[in-house]
Amino acid sequence: MLKILCPLLLLICSLQNTFAQSSYQFDGRQIKPGTKQHFTIPIVSGKDTTIIPVTVFNGLKKGKTLGITAGVHGYEYAPILAAQKLISSIDPKNLSGVIILVQIANMESFRGRSPYISPADRKNLNRVFPGSANGTITERVADYITKNIIVKSDYFLDTHSGDAPEDLTAYGAYYSNSSMPAISKTGKEMAVSMGFDYVVTFDTDGKNYMNKNEPALYCTAEAFKRGIPAADIECGRLGMVEEAPVKKVESSVLNMLKHLKFMPDEHAEVQQQAPVMIKGRMYYSSKQTGIFYALKKAREHVKKGMQLGYTTNYFGETVEKFYAQEDGLILLIIGTPAINKDEDVVVLGTL
Ligand SMILES: [Zn+2]
Repeated sequence: MLKILCPLLLLICSLQNTFAQSSYQFDGRQIKPGTKQHFTIPIVSGKDTTIIPVTVFNGLKKGKTLGITAGVHGYEYAPILAAQKLISSIDPKNLSGVIILVQIANMESFRGRSPYISPADRKNLNRVFPGSANGTITERVADYITKNIIVKSDYFLDTHSGDAPEDLTAYGAYYSNSSMPAISKTGKEMAVSMGFDYVVTFDTDGKNYMNKNEPALYCTAEAFKRGIPAADIECGRLGMVEEAPVKKVESSVLNMLKHLKFMPDEHAEVQQQAPVMIKGRMYYSSKQTGIFYALKKAREHVKKGMQLGYTTNYFGETVEKFYAQEDGLILLIIGTPAINKDEDVVVLGTL
């Protein structure tokens, strides 16, 4: 009898080791399997100080690590409020692996109600990756996220919405490069799994920031350059708090967690509708400073030659007109009057 029991016990023990998660260490603390912990990470640069609120979920079962950032732009509220909901909708007892969720990456932009940039150093967090340990406060936030979250992740997701002036079509997106087919494919599957009507390919072939010696600039590009499958969410518009996009961001993250096997999927047999794939993006940049009038809204399909909007000077005289150069979908259009030379007024998605 003992002869049979002993190998059986050994097998059970080794199986437990295979499937049981161990404690996860983050910022010097141990997070037991099946629990979550909140962290308030202090960041200091000279006389500037800020914090990064982070929630780490350690699943009961072993698995991969997913990094998620919200609030890289602190005026983009839908993902920030969705991250607050994810605190309770991700149950670590029902989780395999680890999720590191940054609640509000750019706290100074959030607290200062400042679109795009931190009022502390006037820098855009999504243009300074990988950041710098000796840099300004925004560069140090990027440095912390790179070293403590991105490098620990097997998958990465950054979540955005239309900032204060941006009317936006909701979409999932993924980073793609022809030299990284497997990583790009996983990213595409992540983006598709979220369940948006549109999925945008961020094709990085030939992009300067993909060169080894150039900074990645973008949060998600930092992950992708390191060989981590990487997706983005863009959902919500005009810096507004609306219930539907908040719920959409939350549900799309949960959909992705099921797809990546972080959470069990009870409805795996339910096929969601395939999204429209958007392969290209055309940027229409303003040559004038003045007052912009949008003639189209996000989600509108336009035909080549249609007028998208126009700019007047401060005395009502038209100084610039914008026309669609191809058929496409308005992914983003400035929805408020102020416009400055060299700013993007429209992003047209081409199919
Ligand atoms: Zn953003």
